[in-house]
Amino acid sequence: MAGQLVKEWAGIQQFPAATQEKLVDLLAKLKNQNVDKLTILVMGKGGVGKSSTINSIIGEPVVTVSAFQSETPRPVMVSRSRAGFTMNIIDTPGLVEGGYVNDQVLDSIKSFLGRFLMMKTIDVLLYVDRLDAYRVDDLDKQVVKAITDSFGKEIWHKAMVVLTHAQLSPPDALTYEEFFSKRSESLLKCVRQGARISKKDVQNFAIPVALVENSGRCNKNEHDEKILPTGTPWIPNVVHAITNIALNGKGGILFDKKLIEGPNANDRGKLFIPLILAFQYFFVIRPIQKQIRYDVARETKPSWA
Ligand code: GDP
Ligand code: MG
Repeated sequence: MAGQLVKEWAGIQQFPAATQEKLVDLLAKLKNQNVDKLTILVMGKGGVGKSSTINSIIGEPVVTVSAFQSETPRPVMVSRSRAGFTMNIIDTPGLVEGGYVNDQVLDSIKSFLGRFLMMKTIDVLLYVDRLDAYRVDDLDKQVVKAITDSFGKEIWHKAMVVLTHAQLSPPDALTYEEFFSKRSESLLKCVRQGARISKKDVQNFAIPVALVENSGRCNKNEHDEKILPTGTPWIPNVVHAITNIALNGKGGILFDKKLIEGPNANDRGKLFIPLILAFQYFFVIRPIQKQIRYDVARETKPSWA
């Protein structure tokens, strides 16, 4: 990538052998399908674990993680390559500040992408939130809406919901699976509403959900792989889900001038101009002409003429 340093993906060697094997297989699968590059955009609210997830997947501390506020001040792209395959991951600042979606952050993401991704595609969107959150509110919907307004509804064809803090004990009498399905269903419902995906279009936008546990205290299996409470090694699982999205047959989101500038309100208005003119002709001008002709015809000459 021009002007962008692509380093060897050394972090992959930090993973236990079992994980490395699965990752190498997945990269080979992508290359077999002629995909030798993936660009992954990571977005969500602040403090949900976006940066931590990137570090976990890359296997190195490549982006800054912070427990308190301030976090990623601007978007950052990390590029790693291995055996002819390049992965670009873009970390972004949280989209919410003081209870509102921060439009400046969205603009900064768009101008960053404009600089680095012009005429290139976003292949996968990771929409990150926490598993251990118990409610979804209007703000979540607004975050999804803001992403949709910026990148188009199609971005959800290329999206995956990532839930961090996956190593938890569910409250009440819920099993882990029940808790996971309740949490993901309510978040997916919010995504569908925020992205204005209609009921009949739901099949078309089957958005996968993957679990992540970034904590150093994550449980491991006998092969030393970090596992979810279900026993699934989560890193290969997430990369597998990313691979499926990349190969799902829907095109990536092309980053061109039109996307950066967004739908122009003036252009949208222009669509109605012919309609308004037609309306004026039939309902204003014609009746007036008719009335004038009628008046002229009815006019009696004054006696002096
Ligand atoms: P970001 O603002 O979305 O980029 O979030 P960060 O990655 O900076 O994480 C915010 C805080 O949450 C940090 O203290 C992380 O260590 C912590 N964190 C992130 N992911 C997890 C996770 O999966 N489990 C646990 N226990 N902590 C996490
Ligand atoms: Mg961050």
